[in-house]
Amino acid sequence: MSGVPTAHIWLPYTQMQGHPEPLRAVRTGGSRIILEDGRELIDAVASWWTACHGYNHPHIVMAMEKQLNAMPHVMFGGLVHEPAEKLAARLALMLPGALNRVFFADSGSVAVEAAMKMAVQYRLNRGDTGRTRFLSFRDGYHGDTLAAMSVTDPDEGMHALFKGYLPEQVIAPIPRDEQSNATFRQLLHERRDQVAAVIVEPIVQCAGGMKMHDAATLKTIAAAAKESGVLLICDEIAVNFGRTGTLFAHSQAGIAPDIICLGKALTGGAINLAATVATADVFDAFLSDRAEDALMHGPTYMGNPLACAAANASLDLFDTEPRLQQVATIEAQLQRDLAPMATLPGVVDVRVKGAVGAVQVADLHHLDWLKAQFVEAGIWLRPFGNVIYTMPPLTVTPAELSEITRAIAEILPRWSALESDTR
Ligand SMILES: *Cc1c(COP(=O)(O)O)cnc(C)c1O
Repeated sequence: MSGVPTAHIWLPYTQMQGHPEPLRAVRTGGSRIILEDGRELIDAVASWWTACHGYNHPHIVMAMEKQLNAMPHVMFGGLVHEPAEKLAARLALMLPGALNRVFFADSGSVAVEAAMKMAVQYRLNRGDTGRTRFLSFRDGYHGDTLAAMSVTDPDEGMHALFKGYLPEQVIAPIPRDEQSNATFRQLLHERRDQVAAVIVEPIVQCAGGMKMHDAATLKTIAAAAKESGVLLICDEIAVNFGRTGTLFAHSQAGIAPDIICLGKALTGGAINLAATVATADVFDAFLSDRAEDALMHGPTYMGNPLACAAANASLDLFDTEPRLQQVATIEAQLQRDLAPMATLPGVVDVRVKGAVGAVQVADLHHLDWLKAQFVEAGIWLRPFGNVIYTMPPLTVTPAELSEITRAIAEILPRWSALESDTR
C-alpha cells in the first residue's frame, strides 16, 4: 500500500489538523524499526516499553506460530486452555506472597479497570458500602479508559476537561520525606472509610514524566495502606519484567500488594495482553452462595491463546537469557552517558533507574523539531511532557545504546540554542 495517505486513520494523542504524514514502518528486528523508505531506526523506547527482548525474538515467534496453527483464539467464558493455565501458574509462582489468582485482560487500561472493580467489590461483598474511591498519586498514569483516567494525574488525565464525568478520587503527592510521609499517612487515615484502595506505579512513574521514588517511599505507602485497612494496588504495567532492575519493581521494597497489574512487556512486545493478579484474600471475598458476588468482568478476547503463548515464551527468555544482567549494564551506561547532560542549559534533572534514562527539561518546546532530529539521527525517540527519555529493549547492545545517548548529547545543545533564539 505504498504511498497511500492515511486518510482514514485517527492517530493517538495527535492533533490531526495539519498533521504531516506519519512515518511508515514495514519491518522490525532486534532493536530496529525498518521504514518503508529503507531507513533503519534504533528504537530507544521499545515500542511504548513493550519489546523487552527486542523485536521478532525467534523463540517468541516460534511459540506464536505453533499456537497460531493449533488455536489462535477461543472464548474464555466456560473454556480454559493450556497456554493460559500455564501462564497463570507461572505468574503466581514468580509473584511474591499470596498473589496467586490471575485475571487476564486485553490491555493495561482494562487490567486497571478490573483491579479497581475488584477493590470496590471486595468491600461491597463484605457489606462495606462506603468505600468506592481510590487514593492515587500526582504524576501517576494508569491508562486511558475512564476509571483509569480518574486515578491518573489530574493534568494528564484531563480531570478539568472531563469534570463531572470522571469519578473524583483522592490524589496525593508521592511522599518524599518525614513530613510528607506523615501528611500522607494522615490523609489516608482520614479518608479510609471512603477509600477502597491505594493505586501506585512502583519505583518509576513512567508516563507522568519518568518520576522516580525509592524503595523506602514505596514501603511507607504500603505501610500506610495496611495501617488504614486499605488495599494496595501496584500498577506494574510499565515497569514489570526487569525494567527497573528486578523482575517486578515492587519487590525492591519487599512489600506485599493485594492486587498487581501487569501488561506492556508481558508478551515481550509481540501482542497485546495484560493481567490483574489478586491475593487469595481478595479472591476469597468473591466466593459465596450469591451469584452477584462474582466478579462481573470479561473482555471478549481475554486469555487469548496466541498472546498467552507469546507471554509464556517471553517468560522462558527471562530464564534462559541474562536479561537482569543486561539491565544492570544498561543502567551503568545510562548513568555514565546521561550524567554530563545535567549541566546543559534548559536541563533541570537527569534520572536513571534500571533501563530507564530521563533528561528532564524546564520546557519541552520545539517538540516536532526535536522528534524529527532524532529520526534524522537514526533514532526512534519520543520526548513527552518535560522529558527526553529512553527505555530501550533490554537486549539493546552497548553500541546501539551509545548511538542513542550520543544522539541525545548532540541534539540537546542545538535544541537549547533554539530556546534562546525565540526568547
Ligand atoms: C501503559 C500503561 C497503562 C495502560 O496500558 P494500555 O495497554 O495502554 O491500556 C496502565 N498503567 C501504566 C502504568 C502504563 O504505563
